[in-house]
Amino acid sequence: MKIRANFHSLFPNVFHIKKIKDSEQNLLFHLESTSTDAICPYCGTASNTIHGKRYRKNISDLPFLDKPVILNITLNEYTCPKCSKNYIENPDSFLLERKSISARCEKYLSELKYSLNGSICDTLKFANYAHIPLNRGVIRYIPIKDIDITDSDKLWIQDFVRNKYPDAQTAPKGKIPSPLAEKIVREIHLNCEKSLHPNLVTLSVYELNCVISQDK
Ligand SMILES: [Zn+2]
Repeated sequence: MKIRANFHSLFPNVFHIKKIKDSEQNLLFHLESTSTDAICPYCGTASNTIHGKRYRKNISDLPFLDKPVILNITLNEYTCPKCSKNYIENPDSFLLERKSISARCEKYLSELKYSLNGSICDTLKFANYAHIPLNRGVIRYIPIKDIDITDSDKLWIQDFVRNKYPDAQTAPKGKIPSPLAEKIVREIHLNCEKSLHPNLVTLSVYELNCVISQDK
């Protein structure tokens, strides 16, 4: 049975796949934009005047099976008819300014970093397991997705800690000493249901630190 993968559907519509290079280390895609217009990010006017080409190299994307995926992309630079500024297109907000990873790759890593309590070391390790080989610097600047805790739950946690653990309150931002933080989290797990904050049974040390540092 022969299976043909339609790689094109994995990228923004205007990206044409010029070449795919399959090596032992990775799958390298050479992509070229076929766009004929783009919205000016400064004033919102559409332009169809192509001023030149821009090349973005070595962009890490999500992996394909067990292969890291690297992209080299040729983009169009447009001139705005209204404000006369030049700008490089970014179809489907696929790329991030001055970052060597695609937006969807950053989104994935951001969730990974969040689930690993913000640890750069662990995120780096798991990203490597997941065939996204990146260096520490890239991982460091990946924003962590916002913690998903309601305001009422946050207030309850802050009150709880203020009353029972004033020491934790004075810890440097986001850095309640580990044994203490684990103790507080355990107690929150035990008490939250009877205090009508049942969602907090899964509160993590990382989330506790975020909530407490927001209280200052
Ligand atoms: Zn403009």
